[in-house]
Amino acid sequence: MEQKQFKSESKRLLEMMINSIYTHKEIFLREIISNASDAIDKLYFKSLTDTSVGMNKEDFEILIEADKENRRLIIRDNGIGMTKDELENNLGTIAQSGSLAFKTSNELGDDSQIIGQFGVGFYSAFMVAKEVTVRTKAYGSEQAYEWKSEGVEGYTIDECDKESVGTEIILSLKEDTDDEKYTKYLDQYQIQSLVKKYSDYIRFPIKTEVEHTHYDEEGNPGEVHKEIKVINSMLPLWKKNKSELTDEDYTTFYTDKFGDFYPPAAHIHTHTEGSATFDALLFIPSKTPFDYYSKDFEKGLQLYSSGVMIMERCADLIPDYFSFVRGLVDSEDLSLNISRELLQHDRQLKIIAKTLEKSIKSELVKMMKNDREKYEEFYSNFGLQFKFGIYQSYGANRDILKDLLMFNSSFSDKKTTLDEYVSRMKEDQEYIFYACGDSVKRIESLPQTELVKDKGYEILYFTDEVDEFAIKVLIDYNGKKFKSVSDNDLNLETTEEKEESKKQAEESQDMFTFMKETLGDKVNEVKLSSRLKNAPVCLSSSGALSLDMEKVLNAMPQNSDKQVKAQKALELNGSHPIFAKLKALYESDKDMLAKYTKLLYSQALLIEGISIEDPVELSNMICDLMV
Ligand code: ADP
Repeated sequence: MEQKQFKSESKRLLEMMINSIYTHKEIFLREIISNASDAIDKLYFKSLTDTSVGMNKEDFEILIEADKENRRLIIRDNGIGMTKDELENNLGTIAQSGSLAFKTSNELGDDSQIIGQFGVGFYSAFMVAKEVTVRTKAYGSEQAYEWKSEGVEGYTIDECDKESVGTEIILSLKEDTDDEKYTKYLDQYQIQSLVKKYSDYIRFPIKTEVEHTHYDEEGNPGEVHKEIKVINSMLPLWKKNKSELTDEDYTTFYTDKFGDFYPPAAHIHTHTEGSATFDALLFIPSKTPFDYYSKDFEKGLQLYSSGVMIMERCADLIPDYFSFVRGLVDSEDLSLNISRELLQHDRQLKIIAKTLEKSIKSELVKMMKNDREKYEEFYSNFGLQFKFGIYQSYGANRDILKDLLMFNSSFSDKKTTLDEYVSRMKEDQEYIFYACGDSVKRIESLPQTELVKDKGYEILYFTDEVDEFAIKVLIDYNGKKFKSVSDNDLNLETTEEKEESKKQAEESQDMFTFMKETLGDKVNEVKLSSRLKNAPVCLSSSGALSLDMEKVLNAMPQNSDKQVKAQKALELNGSHPIFAKLKALYESDKDMLAKYTKLLYSQALLIEGISIEDPVELSNMICDLMV
């Protein structure tokens, strides 16, 4: 018997497999089952045109046998088998992709649905087996052959006895180590769960012998019952016709497969043809997963190639802002690289991802229109992602996301979309106004909102830290620019009002200069306010950085040593009694005016929710004034 050498690149690959520290060794079973399914596909296809094959679709099967005594796992199929030459070529060389050659030479088109074209799957058996034996009899030949290998040393091929056409793969499992218990692959539950996980939708039955122990009335174990059971469900739900499926079917599938206790808020089931052909089945969860906002959370969709799962979480299929979506994609035309775990980041995948993104968006828009309450619940679970999505992409995703945003507003206690806001804008209203704060209640009492509200303009309430950052990136919504109520220049006065306040400001200019000098570089300016109605004082900002952005950025731990500073103005209400008092003090008691100035500045900070630098000084000043 002659020992043959593997082709050099096969040998390298084999070495990789044998010494693999790959964490998903269990995929060997998927690979072997896929090969068996391919082989059955070929013979089944032949049987359709050639009656001498003598097989019906129901006759085909894949059998898994766990021979515990000898530590062997055996996978049998009654597919097309291999001739001696094929054994030599297919299992001695990696580059030889038999299924691919078969496909093109026979011009079968897509009908035969041959999984594969990958070229390395079989060798993954060496991740769990110390010896692999392949016994096979090709369709149409009399003689069967046995291929045997213990790994890199090479392989042997000999004649053997085998009754029926098909292939039998015998894996002599490696000895258990501390890290890896290969014995588990002989366990019936393990086998069933691996088949369920990776090969559930192989379209031929995968059978294995299962044992049931019968218990008598007292609970004592009795007879052990053995039975051959089909363990895969064969037809994927996503391959079924939508019209035949009920909501319950989708819900059961979702809760089973993705381990969620709650039914999904929505599902998307699509079949796409064109630049990429694929089926997708996506779900929007109705509750936030417990780890969603932790760093352990991994986004991604399951990826199938013609019904065989090749990747548990393919992150490239889903953008971060839709990371809550669960589901799967099944495509026939993906090119896969060596490990099948790492997909080549190919064009196909990008096209699929783009298509999915659009479907998800339109599903969400539909939910928003048809079931507002549901959308609001969804939004409270996952809406924050959209704002981060806009901000982190510097606005590149604005068109996808801007219509999905919602905010509280002064219009009602329900959330509003930007579209709804704009539709309610007054004729003379130039901007979309917003105000920031920790809570709706707090924002509602901000003095800066007074005049805007008085004019009858609606104000969006930004209560998430990311809100204003996102909106700065968004710049405008359908041509309407965003404006903070704390912005220096709201441009809300009539020409007359402007004249009036200009006059008043000129009259008090010296006092403002004195007050500004008192505050030093704490503010850039002290000025007469055009936005206050009842409150005596407030802060406003000009420039790119707002007061709230200053607050957020300075609170970030990584910024603790480089604090940013917004350009602030201290604004005074000219019609408030305190203003007259200030003017009087400017004439009579500048020391007291300095105290008042500091006090007013501290008040403005407090209203804004910014902590004051020296609370003790403030407290002392108040006491001084009280006695
Ligand atoms: P791939 O399946 O990607 O082609 P593999 O290394 O898994 O690569 O298998 C190599 C080839 O060996 C297959 O293409 C096929 O021709 C042949 N083969 C493997 N398993 C079987 C089987 N059970 N029956 C028939 N042929 C098989």
